[in-house]
Amino acid sequence: MNLKNIGWIGLGKMGIPMAKNLLNAGYSVTVYNRSKEKEAALQSIGANTAESQAQLLQQAEVIFLMISDDQATRDIFTGEQGLLSAQATGKIIINMSTVSPGVSKEMANLCQEQQNYYLDAPVSGSVKQAEEGQLVIMVGGEEAIFNQVKPILEKLGKLTLRVGDTGAGNTAKLAINTLLGFYAQGLAEAIIFAQQRGIQPQNLLTLIGNSALGNIFTKLKGEAILANNFQPAFALKHIAKDLRLAKQEGSHTPLAEVVQATFQQAESALGEEDIIAIFKHISPVI
Ligand code: NAP
Repeated sequence: MNLKNIGWIGLGKMGIPMAKNLLNAGYSVTVYNRSKEKEAALQSIGANTAESQAQLLQQAEVIFLMISDDQATRDIFTGEQGLLSAQATGKIIINMSTVSPGVSKEMANLCQEQQNYYLDAPVSGSVKQAEEGQLVIMVGGEEAIFNQVKPILEKLGKLTLRVGDTGAGNTAKLAINTLLGFYAQGLAEAIIFAQQRGIQPQNLLTLIGNSALGNIFTKLKGEAILANNFQPAFALKHIAKDLRLAKQEGSHTPLAEVVQATFQQAESALGEEDIIAIFKHISPVI
């Protein structure tokens, strides 16, 4: 099978840099985004565009999705002009969005009925890692199909690991984002605790950065708090969604319960801001 023709659906904060990396790696890329104006950035550097998801499927052998959630996934597969309406066979569809293991299993079954293949391949890392091709990619689905597309995934990430059958990638991703929720809330609470007792946040962050807890997340999000800059790289509404999905999967451990509740409470006011806007949500209540 010629795996040089890529279809890319979803040109949000993550989708744009990821699709660009495939174009820069020499693949022929056809893009589709619900809001058509976002396609211009890719078109200007050589991407083709498709009128519908069905048309895109016909033009590509491997189709990537990088869209919001379960509902968007269902719309893209089963909508009137959705992927499955093309009635094509032999296509490999890779959903890199953070969605539930359940929706992956549903879509994988629908794909199989048409002799197409589905992989779930969510990512860890944000816009910076997407731009640099340094994502961590966790994959669920058939091993033989994974091996065929691994070279393409390796253009997007620094690590590509198959963790099991359909939905396993999503489960691993929900585990990681549960930890991310703990970490974001923990960082916010540590800064607030120290600040209220006279420690400058800048000094606390310098200490954390040089300790065993120092990492790129603390660095970037610490800088964001200091600059009072909550422009979204990873929108708070997305982590709230991921924690809801983890809960639906039966995550009821002590910290998970607390963090799920905090982000759900923050979502209506701060959902469009960055995950670390949880700092603003917690500040007034402590
Ligand atoms: P985003 O900027 O909000 O973009 C969402 C994309 O989904 C847009 O292209 C949007 O189209 C499309 N979409 C939403 N609903 C749709 C529907 N019903 N039908 C068709 N298209 C639809 O999101 P993002 O930050 O790129 O994240 C994408 C996925 O990656 C999410 O699952 C997120 O949880 C996950 N993720 C994000 C990050 C991060 O740091 N941002 C990191 C790891 C994983 P429109 O342009 O028309 O709205």
